[in-house]
Amino acid sequence: MAVVALGLPRSQPGAGETGFAGMPTTGPMLDRFGRAATDLRVSLTDRCNLRCTYCMPEEGMSWLPDDDLLAAEEISRLVRVAVTRLHVAEVRFTGGEPLLRRELPEILRAAAALRPRPELSLTTNGLGLKQKARLLADCGLDRLNVSLDAADPATYAESTRRDRFADVIAGLAAASAAGLRPVKVNAVLTRRGSSGGKDWRDVAAELLDLCLASGYELRFIEQMPLDAGRSWTRAEMITADEILEALGSRHRLSPDPAPRGSAPAGRWLVDGGPASVGVIASVTKPFCADCDRTRITADGQVRNCLFAAEETDLRALLRSPGLDEEALDEALALRWRQAMWTKRTGHGMDDPWFQQPERPMSAIGG
Ligand code: SAM
Ligand code: SF4
Repeated sequence: MAVVALGLPRSQPGAGETGFAGMPTTGPMLDRFGRAATDLRVSLTDRCNLRCTYCMPEEGMSWLPDDDLLAAEEISRLVRVAVTRLHVAEVRFTGGEPLLRRELPEILRAAAALRPRPELSLTTNGLGLKQKARLLADCGLDRLNVSLDAADPATYAESTRRDRFADVIAGLAAASAAGLRPVKVNAVLTRRGSSGGKDWRDVAAELLDLCLASGYELRFIEQMPLDAGRSWTRAEMITADEILEALGSRHRLSPDPAPRGSAPAGRWLVDGGPASVGVIASVTKPFCADCDRTRITADGQVRNCLFAAEETDLRALLRSPGLDEEALDEALALRWRQAMWTKRTGHGMDDPWFQQPERPMSAIGG
């Protein structure tokens, strides 16, 4: 695979440049297999105020140095390049915990002012959302996903290592009241994480009950080998089939006939609908063939896949002196296109040579 070198591109891209033959230089960012990357995930920070067991170890996380983090203006510039030059239509802000980034309102406002106006969403653990939901909606946020792994405080504290269940519940209610609908809830189930007396099947069922009662859309995510502690094992992971079997023993589930498109969650109507539940089977039923994502880490690296082994540095280019505005935007767009062009067909988790990426999920931006 071609690795994009640091520094400015030496020539115009396309047919002439080794590794990028056939790469279009206008229109959406394509890869060699014809997928268009129109959905951008931007990590605003790698830091977090929770320590979810499947994401971070209890202690000993090392954070990106402050100088390496993109400034708010740098983030907004990359979003502008993505939307106005690379046909990105959706931008999701994530992390780490994106609500910890105090410039989030101004980053949202800048993105909402772009034309064409991208869809703006957020993935958050919900801490502090109660105070911020209205402001974020006013700044242009369209919707959000809130992570909640259990419907009771004790199991939640076990999963996140912090006693903050009530804050998340208050945050969810505030998001709904602020019109950030549909409010989606992300849940990762763990066998060990819910060992405090409660079976994971009960945890799953209670979460579904909570979401049905409150009008939130629940989506379970299969646990992926992206934890900073590198403790993931396939045997410990709870599969999509297991989750569906557990929920199916308490509710009538039927496939949602609405087209799935590139959405990663398989969706099931609950007891005939209209409420539904989603299961994202990233490990057991990968959706790589339909993947439309591109990612920017908090330190300005493009990742063309969650599981990519290589990254492409936009930060060095952003900070390189001597280019006028137009030339810099052009160079950023070109570098980004090149990064996406070399995306692999799939995440390769079942390949014998698969290796967990060096960056954990919290530093990539989930
Ligand atoms: N802190 C925010 C949150 O928790 O929503 C945003 C970042 S977090 C990395 C984004 C999503 O990734 C969350 O829904 C979280 O549950 C999920 N996640 C984290 N580690 C994961 C893993 N190893 N496998 C699957 N999902 C994971
Ligand atoms: Fe923090 Fe989100 Fe990771 Fe939990 S999943 S530790 S909330 S980044």
